[in-house]
Amino acid sequence: MSLLVQKFGGTSLGSIERIKAVAQKIKSSKEKGNDLVIVVSAMGHTTDELTKLASEITIHPPHREMDMLLSTGEQISISLLSMALNEVGIQTMSLTGTQAGIITESAHGRARILEIRAERILNLLDQGKTLIIAGFQGTSLGIGGIPEITTLGRGGSDTSAVALAAALEAEKCEIYTDVPGVLTTDPRIVKNAQLMKTISCDEMLELASLGAAVLHPRAVEIARNFGVTLVVKSSWEENHDGTTLTSNKNLGVFKGGIEHRSPVDGLELIEHQAVIALSNIPDRPGIAADLFEALSEGGVNVDLIIQATHQINKNDITFTVNEEELENATIQCKELLNSIGGEISTKTDLTKISIYGAGIMGRPGIASSLFQTLSDSGINIRLIATSEVKVSCVIDAESGKKALRNVGEFFKLNDKQITLNPNIKNNHEPEVRGIALDKDQIQVSVKNVPDKPGTASTICSTLAEKNISLDTIVQSERKHGDKTKDISFTLKKNDRRDAKYALEELISNWKGSKLEEGNAIVRISAVGSGMPFTKGTAGKIFRALANQKINIEMIATSEIRTTCIISEKYGEKALNEIHSCFKLGSNDS
Ligand code: ASP
Ligand code: MG
Repeated sequence: MSLLVQKFGGTSLGSIERIKAVAQKIKSSKEKGNDLVIVVSAMGHTTDELTKLASEITIHPPHREMDMLLSTGEQISISLLSMALNEVGIQTMSLTGTQAGIITESAHGRARILEIRAERILNLLDQGKTLIIAGFQGTSLGIGGIPEITTLGRGGSDTSAVALAAALEAEKCEIYTDVPGVLTTDPRIVKNAQLMKTISCDEMLELASLGAAVLHPRAVEIARNFGVTLVVKSSWEENHDGTTLTSNKNLGVFKGGIEHRSPVDGLELIEHQAVIALSNIPDRPGIAADLFEALSEGGVNVDLIIQATHQINKNDITFTVNEEELENATIQCKELLNSIGGEISTKTDLTKISIYGAGIMGRPGIASSLFQTLSDSGINIRLIATSEVKVSCVIDAESGKKALRNVGEFFKLNDKQITLNPNIKNNHEPEVRGIALDKDQIQVSVKNVPDKPGTASTICSTLAEKNISLDTIVQSERKHGDKTKDISFTLKKNDRRDAKYALEELISNWKGSKLEEGNAIVRISAVGSGMPFTKGTAGKIFRALANQKINIEMIATSEIRTTCIISEKYGEKALNEIHSCFKLGSNDS
């Protein structure tokens, strides 16, 4: 007999009829001989409605009281679903998070799950009971051991389900929802977007803006770390398999807690990196495509690519390669520069240090702490590359070990979470699995900032204090004659006013610095685990854009993601082009 954890979301439980329908579905899984642990969210929009009630009393409700309030939503669903199951002859017991032994940290409203004390669940399963457990909530041991109800953050019942599956070593965790699974891109814009049969947890995390509505990122991270087989599928379409998330990690249960106290999940250092910076090259569609096609034809595999600020009509493109590929890469670049003009400079003896984790999303303080820790250690950051769940900095090799030690200590990471020169296996995954379009960003550059340790961290922490996240931070390698450089980034449209205000105050301290907002842009990201093993992926993306005469304003990549910032007006066209260039659509061949 196998143990399944099944989670039903709010929409699937939106009415009494639906609760009865879910009960029928559970009954038929049970009759197939499975042991079942069912995790539920609050009915329909209950959590929003409860939040609204609180807001009619105060704009600053105490976090503890909010958790008392919001946790009631799930308590309604567990009891009603349990009754519905009893009516159809299934023996059940409903449990709150506390009763189920879900122990969390004490941060109300965003608690992370530390452990699950599963004895009671296991005993009840032994008695043949089907368990109905409230998602989104747990209990902290509180100060002095006094238990308190906590919630995990909006959308957190997915996280409860996957954590239970990890702790109980369930065969599978199935998330039933109102969409058929994860699609290759937004089907409202790209007509032939397809359901993905599988996606790796790492890819899913990088596709957050596409996938976060489908699955809570923290749930994906737990699945990745514990090797939980996680399936997302529609509650109502019987004959669809949905999307299966894959992971090749398995830390084993309970080593160091289900979720770490630190939002940073891991730290890695990759040595023997070289940077190639091309400057003063023409700023027109097709240049990046020519360059990265030439590199890939020449057999060079590039890692990070960064393109940011342009002077009038001129551009800089910076990228990193493995040291041993530098010579070959330089030859390819020089050949191209001969025909288009521009200068090249290279630098070896570099190291890339990266932190990653789903907890980085939406927490601007994390990137800024990384920069701060490096700058406190006297280490200059040469390049910065960010993605949804990862922040990487290129630094001088001689500082590598010191950086690893200090950053690891700052984020309280244990040895298992720190890797030196990780050896990632080529699982022959596709170079691009899915593409996300983010229309919610603006582009900002801070020009002529001092090129010394601490500048990036000051900018980030100034914004982090206002709870503003920077996305796609690019620090260009080029220095101006006066030893200053430029930092560009994108941020959420909503944060525009606060960000400008905060930055203007900051840069008034730096003589000659100025703030510039770019034209209206969108951010388009292609993600695939096969990317590090495939030459020329970036070149293909840039060519697809060049074919449509679309100019690329900024480029930022991480290992498995390539992001281009382009003018807003080309967003949907670009999405269609790139989607079809990798043959992701149902009828692309
Ligand atoms: N009910 C909670 C929310 O609406 C948790 C969840 O649905 O996952 O955010
Ligand atoms: Mg949800």
